[in-house]
Amino acid sequence: MTDPRRRVPRTDVVLADPRLADAAATIGRAAVKAAVVAAQERARAGQLAPEQVADAAVAALPDTVGGLRPVLNATGVVLHTNLGRAALSGAARKAVVAASGHTDVELDLRTGRRARRGRTALAALADAVPDAADVHVVNNGAAALVLAATALSSGKEIVVSRGEMVEIGDGFRLPELLQSTGARLREVGTTNRTSVDDYEKAIGPDTGFILKVHPSNFVISGFTSAASVGDLATLGPPVVADIGSGLLRPDPLLPGEPDAATSLRQGAALVTASGDKLLGGPQAGLLLGDATLVERLRRHPLARALRVDKLTLAALQATLTGPETPTWQALRMDEPTLRSRTQAAADRLAEHGVPVTLVETQAVVGGGGAPDVRLRSCSLSLPHTYGESLRTTTPPVVGRVEHGQLLLDLRCVPPESDDELVAAVLRVAGRS
Ligand SMILES: *Cc1c(COP(=O)(O)O)cnc(C)c1O
Repeated sequence: MTDPRRRVPRTDVVLADPRLADAAATIGRAAVKAAVVAAQERARAGQLAPEQVADAAVAALPDTVGGLRPVLNATGVVLHTNLGRAALSGAARKAVVAASGHTDVELDLRTGRRARRGRTALAALADAVPDAADVHVVNNGAAALVLAATALSSGKEIVVSRGEMVEIGDGFRLPELLQSTGARLREVGTTNRTSVDDYEKAIGPDTGFILKVHPSNFVISGFTSAASVGDLATLGPPVVADIGSGLLRPDPLLPGEPDAATSLRQGAALVTASGDKLLGGPQAGLLLGDATLVERLRRHPLARALRVDKLTLAALQATLTGPETPTWQALRMDEPTLRSRTQAAADRLAEHGVPVTLVETQAVVGGGGAPDVRLRSCSLSLPHTYGESLRTTTPPVVGRVEHGQLLLDLRCVPPESDDELVAAVLRVAGRS
C-alpha cells in the first residue's frame, strides 16, 4: 500500500473544488488557500484521509472576513467595552450597509454642489437635543474632549475638580489626555469635596474653560460635595460638561446619569459624550452647545483629523431617528420574559443531560456607565469548564464566571439567538 501522505491532493486541485472556488470569490483567495493548506497538513500528519482534504477545508473556512467575529454577549454587561460596547439596531446596521458604497455624504444631489458632510445626521442630532444651538460629531468621546481642549484652551488653563480626574479605562487618564493638547490643568478642591468657591478662586485671565466631568465608572459616597453645572455657569468662563454616556434626555431608569439636554439647560456651553454607550449607537464623540463654540471646533485644523466616516454618520442617524436600540431594550428587558426565555433554555439543556441550573443574578450597564445601577436578572449556571469552549465555538458565547460557575445571562442576547446559544452549549457539552 502506498503511503497515504503521498496521496494528499495538490493545492490547485483542491482549490478547483466548486465550493472552494465560490468561497474564494466571496471571502478572498488567501483565506481559502490558508484553509486548504491547513487541511493538507493534517492529511500529511495522518489526521485526515487524503480524500477528506477538500471537505475539511470547506468546514474550516472562516465565517467572516472582517476579522471581527460576531459573538453572543451573555455576560450580563449591557455595554461591554471588550465586546464593542453598544450593539447597533437593525436600522443602524441597514444604514451602514447602504452607506458602504458611494454615497451623497458631501454632495447635494439636487444642485450637484458640495454640501456639508453628514448634514442629515447632524440635523438628526440637533433635532434630538433642541437645547443645543449647534452640534458636531467626532471619532469618540475622548476626541470630543481633545478637540474642545485644543480649540478653546491650548496654552490656557482648564479648571477642573480633583474629584473628576478620572481614568477612562485601559490606562487612559483624562488629565493626561487634556494635557497632551497643550492645555494646562488647574486642579481645584479635593477628591471628595469641591465647592464653587474653589473654582472661583482659580479663575483668571488664563482660564480657557471650566470642565465638569461625570465620574462615570465609579461612585464616591459619604462626605462629598460637588459644584453643579448650574453653579459653575454663573462664574463667567464657558463650562464644558463631559457627560460620558450620551444620554440625550433624562432617563428615570438611570437617575444618576447626567444628560445633554439638562446640562445645556443648566448653562453648559458645550456638552461632550460618547455615541456607543447609553445612546446605543456607533463609536462617536458628540459635541453639543453654543453655536460660536461649536463653529470654532468645527473650523479648527484638528477637526479634520477627528472627523467620522460615512458609516458612522449613517449609523448615528439611524440610531437617533430609528427604533429602540438593543441597548435600550437590554436595559428595560421585561423580567418575566427574560425568566421564561432562560427557563426554556435551561429545560432544553437539562433534557439532554447538561448540568444546568437557573440562578438569580444581577446585570450591569457597563461601558463605564451607571456604576451604581444593578438590574435584577437571571442566568443559566453551568460548570466553569465550559467557558473556554463556548468562547471558541461559532458563534462564540461569552458569559462570566462567578463563584466558580459559568453564568450565561440572556438579557443582552437577541431573543432570536436563544436557539443558537442552546445549540452551542449542547455542542460544547458533547450532547448535540
Ligand atoms: C467613556 C467616557 C469618555 C471616553 O469616551 P470614548 O467614547 O470612550 O472615547 C470620556 N469621559 C467620560 C466621562 C466617559 O464616561
